[in-house]
Order: sequence, then structure tokens, then C-alpha cells
Amino acid sequence: MKVLIVHAHPEAKSFSSALRDLAVETLQGQGHEVRQSDLHALDWNPVASAADFGERQNPDYLVYALEQRESVKAGNIAPDIQRELDKLLWADLLILNFPLYWFSVPAILKGWIDRVLVSGVCYGGKRFYDQGGLAGKKALVSLTLGGREHMFGEGAIHGPLEDMLRPLLRGTLAYVGLEVLPPFVAWHVPYISNDAREDFLRAYQARLQGLERDQPLEFPRLEQFDERLYPLAR
Ligand SMILES: Cc1cc2nc3c(=O)[nH]c(=O)nc-3n(C[C@H](O)[C@H](O)[C@H](O)COP(=O)(O)OP(=O)(O)OC[C@H]3O[C@@H](n4cnc5c(N)ncnc54)[C@H](O)[C@@H]3O)c2cc1C
Repeated sequence: MKVLIVHAHPEAKSFSSALRDLAVETLQGQGHEVRQSDLHALDWNPVASAADFGERQNPDYLVYALEQRESVKAGNIAPDIQRELDKLLWADLLILNFPLYWFSVPAILKGWIDRVLVSGVCYGGKRFYDQGGLAGKKALVSLTLGGREHMFGEGAIHGPLEDMLRPLLRGTLAYVGLEVLPPFVAWHVPYISNDAREDFLRAYQARLQGLERDQPLEFPRLEQFDERLYPLAR
């Protein structure tokens, strides 16, 4: 299997970075090919802007997704985007590895999503969910967070973690056609003992070693909807 790990933590010695290092070591140890995009090391530009395109389809008014579609076809999308897109298309499995920031992904990772999941390649028209441009590939989200496990869930103070990850798991990864595996979560990371953190590392390693057995999460399939995307009567 070919694996792309997109990592978004500003500190190379962080626990999140240790999860990334472990994933590289474990997956390579199993004979998988692994490539990485360490966004801070790349000094990744997260801002989607007109500078992402060479010759513009419409120089007077920027419709970002439209220009993405045209410039990727013409081969004049920004080189940093093209490099990441090539890695993404190469991979069978995409791992997003990050600390939770404000119930969401860090801005640098959000900007990777905005710029690299290019319209016309990853989605567009009715190419979404099971018909998305990245159908046939898988995705795994691996995250650390500050909160304790009991603070998340139905009736808990922050509500279910799945709700806060919905824009990522459903609105992004499933939307572009990826089969989304259940996330790996390391809770309360800065406040627990070293032993407890090492337990998370062991659990992650076991998870990575058994990825083939993981059941993907359920998302809509276009066959469940009519031409105008109204749900079909069941
Ligand atoms: C802007 C912002 C927004 C945030 N929003 C949220 C939020 O909405 N919800 C929430 O719950 N949290 C939130 N947090 C907290 C954040 O998610 C956590 O602080 C972060 O996920 C912890 O992971 P880390 O990798 O940064 O830990 P680090 O602080 O880097 O590491 C924790 C400890 O692990 C040690 N460590 C490193 N490597 C290893 C190893 N191999 N084995 C054992 N120990 C090791 C480190 O030395 C350190 O002592 C937010 C933080 C920020 C900055």
C-alpha cells in the first residue's frame, strides 16, 4: 500500500509528531511505501488566493474552484499545490495527523485541504461521496487533544467528537470519495503521564498494524438519491 501522511504540528518533538514518526516506522516495517507532507517543515502556504493560478480563465473575477479546474487541466496550477496533489493521487491511504485546534484542524492543515483538494480532480458536478474523485482510496485521521474522554459524547459538556469532526470526516474526506476509517484519538495528551502516552503509542501501532480489518464509517451513496439529489423513498 502507498501511504501519504499529512502532518500539521509546529513542534518536531511533540507527541503528535511522535504519532507521525511511529506511523512511518510501523507502516514501512510492514512493507508499505510512505511519503510525508510535514506542513510546518514545508512552510506550507495555507491561503487560497489568485496567486495559485498561472493564466486565469477569468482575470476580472476570481471563482477559486473554477480556476482550480481550469488551471489543473492546463498544468499551470501553483507548483506547491501540484506537488501535493501528485502525492495525494499516488497514495492508497491518506493519514491526517494533527492536534485538535478549536474543535477543528489547525489552519495550516485547513489550508492544505482548501488548496490541494482541487475541483475537477477530487470533486465536481456530481462527483462526490462514493462517486468522488478519490474513490477507491482510504483516509485515517489521527489526532491529539487536550480534553478528557468523558467531556466528549452524547450529553457530555462538549458533545460528541464525531459532531466536531463532521466537516472533516464527512464534508471533506467522504465528500471527495475517500473511505473514511474511524479516527484514532489520543485524549488529554499534555496532562497525562508518560506511561499513559506510551499506551496511546502502543494502541496506535496496533491500529496501524490492523488497518485492513478496519470497517469504514457509513456515508451517503448517490444511488440512494434521485437525479436532483432528493432521497429515494425506501
Ligand atoms: C490553538 C489551540 C486550540 C486548541 N483547541 C482545542 C480544542 O478545541 N479541544 C481540545 O480538547 N484541545 C484543544 N487544544 C489542545 C491541543 O489539542 C493539545 O494541546 C494537543 O493536541 C496536545 O498534543 P501535542 O502533540 O501538542 O502535545 P505536546 O504538548 O507536544 O506533548 C505533550 C507531552 O508529550 C510528551 N511527548 C512527546 N513525545 C512523546 C513520546 N514519544 N512518548 C511520551 N511522551 C511524549 C511531550 O514531551 C510533552 O510533555 C488546543 C490547543 C491550541 C494551541
